Amino acid sequence: MKYYSTNGQAPLASLEKAVVRGLAEDRGLYMPERIPVLPEEFYRNIQTMTFQEIACTVADALFGEDIPAPELHRIVEETLSFDCPVVPVTRSIGALELFHGPTLAFKDVGARFMARLLRHFTQHSDDARTIHVLVATSGDTGSAVANGFLGVEGVHVHVLYPKGKVSPIQECQFTTLGRNITALEVDGCFDDCQALVKSAFMDAELTARLRLTSANSINVARLLPQSFYYFHGYAQMKRFGLGGQLVVCVPSGNFGNLCAALFARRMGLPVKRFIAANNANDVFFEYLQTGEYKPRPSIPTLANAMDVGDPSNAARIFELYGHDWKALTADISGRVCSDDQIVSVIRQCREKYGYLLDPHGACGFYAVYHHLHPGERALLCETAHPAKFKDTVERATGTPVDIPTRLSAFMQGTKQSVPMGKDYKEFKEYLSTLQ
Ligand SMILES: *Cc1c(COP(=O)(O)O)cnc(C)c1O
Repeated sequence: MKYYSTNGQAPLASLEKAVVRGLAEDRGLYMPERIPVLPEEFYRNIQTMTFQEIACTVADALFGEDIPAPELHRIVEETLSFDCPVVPVTRSIGALELFHGPTLAFKDVGARFMARLLRHFTQHSDDARTIHVLVATSGDTGSAVANGFLGVEGVHVHVLYPKGKVSPIQECQFTTLGRNITALEVDGCFDDCQALVKSAFMDAELTARLRLTSANSINVARLLPQSFYYFHGYAQMKRFGLGGQLVVCVPSGNFGNLCAALFARRMGLPVKRFIAANNANDVFFEYLQTGEYKPRPSIPTLANAMDVGDPSNAARIFELYGHDWKALTADISGRVCSDDQIVSVIRQCREKYGYLLDPHGACGFYAVYHHLHPGERALLCETAHPAKFKDTVERATGTPVDIPTRLSAFMQGTKQSVPMGKDYKEFKEYLSTLQ
């Protein structure tokens, strides 16, 4: 399979090149040249298959030309060492719990898959240099990527995070690991971290000397494996007898997860329509209403993993629909949930249905609850464990939230980070010591 750039000015790339580069030469995003459709028989029997079996079938279709099957299946099996169950919430809404991975957020699957794919490529490449992964984070991406890449030979991860602006648990998740993970504590905000990473990628002298890549959802190796969720979610809804007229609702920030769901449907997954849930950062919602896409700086909300003012995967979604707003809005609608609504939705869902949402899932629940048509069923992505957003959830319900031992275990380690100014000069000095 070859990958092309959404900007159309870069040569076609192999999977290896697309993954190792992250972004195309023309700064566009890589897209698979074709989207394979899975046979009807697969969908007929999907409810009898395990998550790993389903994911192996999907991975064969997407990556089978580029990775030998036994190795690809090993990568999938190592990635999916946990389940993503559907929990019925109301009679028509099932929550697809994507948060049972090591850092309790859905990004674990993409991060783990990408780490293992890079390991495969470094083992089979003539280039013996270390691959340096730069990742700017406001919290969840850093923890998933750091834990996904921990101990992977040939790869070193550098996590840039804003000093004092991530939660203590999140900070521990990427500052206590050591080994091939270095945390850089930037004296600035998330946008400053992102700007430092961008400057490094644009620095021709640096990129000629070092192998640099990014582990944000611009990377196809992080994006595409997220489609596994939707096949598995569908299989479980089918088992409940709720497979028909399926609506998929995705709480969205950079829109990687929704994009993966759209890929799944292009591969033949029977989804009727999609709902993109936003917090107060409503650039995509506004596009759905007006046809105009106007990025702007993000604003902080309670669902902070969705605080994105210029979603990086919007370009891929426009590309999937040939930049046809009418076609896109026929498939995707949107809703916006304010901070006040997040708090009241968490409380009401708990009281009425006994299900505890996190602030991101709450945006999704709000988006889908009143907007199902007769006969429709919804698969709602619950993207993080409520304990990760303990303060908000406890304020909403008035009840203490238990911290899973997996999460509290991170609090035991010793924090280690490199202090860094927000000026590129200092970051460049740091990078120039690497090889
Ligand atoms: C990253 C994240 C999101 C947003 O996902 P995108 O793929 O960027 O749209 C939503 N919820 C949580 C908890 C996240 O960590």
